[in-house]
Amino acid sequence: MSECEGRYDAVIIGAGMAGASLGAELAGHMRVLMIEMETMPGYHATGRSVAFWSQSYGGPAIRPLTRASGAFLARPPVDFADHGFLLPRGGVHIGRAQDAPLRDAMIADYQDADKGPNALFRPLAADELQSRIMGLRPEWVIGLEEESLRDIDVAALHGAYLSAFRRHGGALLCHHRFAGAEYRGGAQGWQMSLFNGGDAPVTVTASLLINAAGAWADTVARGADVRPLGVKPLLRTVTQLRVSPSAPDDMPLVLDISQRFYFKPVGQGRIWLTPHDEQPAAAQDAAPEEIDVAIAIDRLQSAMDWQVEAVERKWAGLRSFAPDRLPVYGRDPRQPAFFWFAGQGGFGIQTAPAAAKLASALITGAVPDVMVRDLDPAAYAPGRLQS
Ligand SMILES: Cc1cc2nc3c(=O)[nH]c(=O)nc-3n(C[C@H](O)[C@H](O)[C@H](O)COP(=O)(O)OP(=O)(O)OC[C@H]3O[C@@H](n4cnc5c(N)ncnc54)[C@H](O)[C@@H]3O)c2cc1C
Repeated sequence: MSECEGRYDAVIIGAGMAGASLGAELAGHMRVLMIEMETMPGYHATGRSVAFWSQSYGGPAIRPLTRASGAFLARPPVDFADHGFLLPRGGVHIGRAQDAPLRDAMIADYQDADKGPNALFRPLAADELQSRIMGLRPEWVIGLEEESLRDIDVAALHGAYLSAFRRHGGALLCHHRFAGAEYRGGAQGWQMSLFNGGDAPVTVTASLLINAAGAWADTVARGADVRPLGVKPLLRTVTQLRVSPSAPDDMPLVLDISQRFYFKPVGQGRIWLTPHDEQPAAAQDAAPEEIDVAIAIDRLQSAMDWQVEAVERKWAGLRSFAPDRLPVYGRDPRQPAFFWFAGQGGFGIQTAPAAAKLASALITGAVPDVMVRDLDPAAYAPGRLQS
């Protein structure tokens, strides 16, 4: 019998940022088991992110989750971590003259009723833009500074959530793949089968099954005989380049307003660059294509007067989206013993603290934490996708 075989209040499938953060919130309230099919948590989307926190990323409907998470990420409670997870960076959205309508739409999208127009962005004049981003080609005349943008220490945040989960009594089982579950109802709840390469499955039972399986969210739903929501993985490519002249360490994250690339310095003159691609992909160990790296470099060179001296690394990860590109947090309307925590798209790190607090309140029925008291969970409920 496996050490984790037995009965739990909740089993979480997936130990990426979603599973780890929600697990940490729940473990003090109930008996929780977290299942991860890889030998290490964080192998998929969580370990492949570009690691920034931006209030404009993901669109206006994501912003409340990002903002609500910001203070926790900057100054976490002392019993959670002894340092913050946000690091100085700043961002600048750049465009050419023809991108003016896109710039205007961005500003309009983020007008703050409380702070007046353009609170998030500060327009930069062309000469200011040139001095902010050394090497920018002269036809890039539009600049919107997003001063509040930060880097996130993703590994430290994920590690802190996993530690909190264990400290509060949660059990993590790696190298075990959820293969399916049968709902027997009442006190029996779910009977789940997990595979770890052995001949016979490990069996666990639980009252609640929590789906935090990232790109595999719909696969897990099918395995539990729950109707999938259409959560689709989209592949994004990233490459690490050595450029000449060296990229200054203190330069901002630079994002093309027309969404064809973004890049940021990662030290010693290197940058991480993405062509902002979104290829539909199967749920799998995603790998980059040479062509997408070439496209990324071509787009970079259309904006920056830099030589690319070496492609040092390249990788790809899966960002998973529901059809309306909003995350899905909540009990399945037809099977309330199945909880969706999926569709975190390209914002699952920067929204993790608020998302986990919101979901934990939905599961336990407790009064939501002050961090999320003003957020309306109905916006993220799975029922919106099943009507
Ligand atoms: C290139 C890239 C850049 C990004 N940049 C940012 C960024 O700057 N800021 C930001 O906030 N977000 C960013 N993201 C998005 C962020 O990484 C994701 O939203 C987040 O990591 C999703 O976390 P998750 O736990 O849902 O998914 P994952 O990290 O993929 O975790 C899901 C886990 O479930 C496990 N699993 C699946 N099926 C099973 C099964 N049957 N049995 C057991 N285990 C299973 C998987 O092995 C996996 O470990 C980026 C993503 C990518 C790919």
